[in-house]
Amino acid sequence: MVDVVIAGAGPNGLMLAGELGLAGIRPVVLDPMPGPDVERRANGIIGQGVRILDHRGLYGTLAGTTEPPRLNPRAMFAAFPLELTLVPDPQVFLLPVQQPRLVRVLADWARDYDVDIRWGHVLTGFDEHPDGVTVHVTGPDGRYDLSAEYLVGADGGASVTRKLAGIDFPGNDQPMSLAELEASAKRVLGADVQFRPAHPDTPLDLRRFSGINSRIASRYQLGRVILVGDAAHVHSPMGGPGLNLGLQDAVNLGWKLAAVLHGRVEASLLATYEAERRPAAERVIMHSRAQLALVRPGPEVLRAGHRSEHRPPAERPAVGGGEPLRHRPGRPPTRRALGARLRCPDR
Ligand SMILES: Cc1cc2nc3c(=O)[nH]c(=O)nc-3n(C[C@H](O)[C@H](O)[C@H](O)COP(=O)(O)OP(=O)(O)OC[C@H]3O[C@@H](n4cnc5c(N)ncnc54)[C@H](O)[C@@H]3O)c2cc1C
Repeated sequence: MVDVVIAGAGPNGLMLAGELGLAGIRPVVLDPMPGPDVERRANGIIGQGVRILDHRGLYGTLAGTTEPPRLNPRAMFAAFPLELTLVPDPQVFLLPVQQPRLVRVLADWARDYDVDIRWGHVLTGFDEHPDGVTVHVTGPDGRYDLSAEYLVGADGGASVTRKLAGIDFPGNDQPMSLAELEASAKRVLGADVQFRPAHPDTPLDLRRFSGINSRIASRYQLGRVILVGDAAHVHSPMGGPGLNLGLQDAVNLGWKLAAVLHGRVEASLLATYEAERRPAAERVIMHSRAQLALVRPGPEVLRAGHRSEHRPPAERPAVGGGEPLRHRPGRPPTRRALGARLRCPDR
């Protein structure tokens, strides 16, 4: 019996494998690819993920320097440059690295701890029983089974593990309520704001800008099956937060799973993994949606701007109001006009 089977040798599966290896656990990692993925997705890691890699002694190799990670003085939020030097305690580190290189370095690191990485082996199914999980695998020499205490799905956004476990992957496609809008306004403005229809006889037409496929698994753990990285959450790549999020999932889960497997703590500790990491995924999704909405205003935004322009000034919304949009009467404002309105007043 093996301790853990990890489905997926992407960056997050390999990070978890290395973390387990570091703690004396020898997981088996499966991946249908013939070798480390060469697909160019991420161009870099931004945030605490950089420090994690530094703590594991990998930063120097990845960055090609003997210097420690440096704080990034600037970041972009949508098209807006953020001066991070104005923030009291900035913690935004940047590591420009192509994802295929990160995957190769993590694979080498995990192998240093005798992790068994099986390229060309795919998880095709599993059966869970009270003492563990029987994982069905197809490899170059045919089908075989692995008995494990835990199965971790690190197999990406289309996770087979998540689907086989029957874990839902809902997006935020519920209709938006007035209460939700008011709660959002309060969160952003720090004050109660009451919204009402512009005219008593006009029904409210609330729309949610849901952005590119943004989803979070309905649960991160079901019995002996646990999800990490993109298998647990997907969102737009705006701002490049994906690896930072997933690598921290892997590190959060790694030591807990190792402590449970060594018998040092109760298995109930694993519940703290989801409790701690789900809010991080929710926040990343909120940020990536906000950025998408700012750089790519859709027809709802254009129509809303058009309506407010033709209302008397007293009726125009206070938030985002001020300067009227510059456009010819009778025509919807152009994206350029909207961009002008979104610029900071002092620039
Ligand atoms: C265009 C684009 C740009 C991006 N840019 C950035 C960026 O700049 N910064 C950033 O931080 N993030 C970025 N991201 C996000 C980042 O690429 C992902 O968050 C990251 O790849 C997730 O890693 P993962 O290990 O969870 O999943 P994946 O990288 O998807 O790896 C999953 C692995 O599971 C394997 N697998 C699949 N099915 C099975 C199975 N049945 N059995 C076993 N293995 C299986 C796959 O072969 C794959 O190797 C970008 C994404 C895209 C699409």
